[in-house]
Amino acid sequence: MQSLLDQTYPQLAETLAKEGEKSFRASQIFNWLYQKRVAGVEEMSNLSQGLQNKLSQSFTLKREKPQKAQQAKDGTIKFLTPLADGLQIETVILRHGDHNTVCLSTQVGCGMGCRFCLTAKMGLKRDLTPGEIVAQVLNAYDLLPPGEKIRNLVYMGMGEPFHNYERVIHSLMIFTDPQGFAFSWRRITVSTSGLIPEIIQFGKDQRAKANLAISLNGVTEEARQQIMPITKKHSLTKLIQACEAYPAEKRERITFEYVLLQGVTDSLRDAKALVKLLSRAKAKVNLIPFNPHSGLEFAAPTPARVKEFQEYLLNHGLPATLRSPRGQGISAACGQLAAQRKKENETEAV
Ligand code: SAH
Ligand code: SF4
Repeated sequence: MQSLLDQTYPQLAETLAKEGEKSFRASQIFNWLYQKRVAGVEEMSNLSQGLQNKLSQSFTLKREKPQKAQQAKDGTIKFLTPLADGLQIETVILRHGDHNTVCLSTQVGCGMGCRFCLTAKMGLKRDLTPGEIVAQVLNAYDLLPPGEKIRNLVYMGMGEPFHNYERVIHSLMIFTDPQGFAFSWRRITVSTSGLIPEIIQFGKDQRAKANLAISLNGVTEEARQQIMPITKKHSLTKLIQACEAYPAEKRERITFEYVLLQGVTDSLRDAKALVKLLSRAKAKVNLIPFNPHSGLEFAAPTPARVKEFQEYLLNHGLPATLRSPRGQGISAACGQLAAQRKKENETEAV
């Protein structure tokens, strides 16, 4: 049975229209689902019994519940969700007082093979449905103390969002729909390893909007190919050209994520090349010191080098922020999500 959480507003409105229902019913249903966050159709008390029955016959509202939630000292929560087919995904909640950020997964595993990323080791198992993406935010709400809000969404968990383009667009439509969660698109960021046709399509897509982030991580074709095999298919040169042509509004910039790997991407020569590479793009850089994990062959840069690297960019007119390490002790940081059954001695309790 189809999940009600897979339905975008236009899809639901169309289904209801075919049933002879008034269009405002779709608004009411979105409100119940994403504002009041009810668990069942029977709780949608302003819908007629007839409509409730029809909805329950066509759609399920069942969502897999989070398991194994772990909390780090800084408040970061990571949780695992077992999916209907037995696969599992991880989601992270980054805590900022009463407004939080959820880091969403878009696939089980990832097929892009980036050498510094633990998710890559899983390979691609499958795409997530829009409902499975949306359910991560509902599950996050269930885990947060009452009254705490989720203000920002980042598509930076497991998977390559643009490798699951249509479903990601549908999830964005649901998140930004004014009748539903009503997230502002400015508070949502989609991060891609650089799938050029989808970047171009996203720039034009009228259905949904979000901030764009590109995982750059290499400043020459060769260097990037070594760590991000996708570069062989989508060259760095073409990627930068697509970013330069990307339609950005006034004051809007593309975020270029740059993972600092000791001795591989963290030299001052790299910093210099990065400034040159991005000179014509509306860019800001987010530096991410490598998050180590057993099984990954790289090392984190020294704090002194991170500082020098950032200062070089800033001194040369390139806005650059440093991603602060989050979720230490529970492997919740970027590139550490793997959602595979870990050995007993590797699991950590909340
Ligand atoms: N697949 C998408 C989004 C998820 S990865 C993408 O690659 O953009 C989110 C970010 O984590 C990316 O910028 C990636 O470069 C970074 N990342 C992956 N593994 C990492 C690691 N071990 N340490 C630090 N950052 C990492
Ligand atoms: Fe996939 Fe992103 Fe990890 Fe690369 S960094 S393997 S694209 S999740």
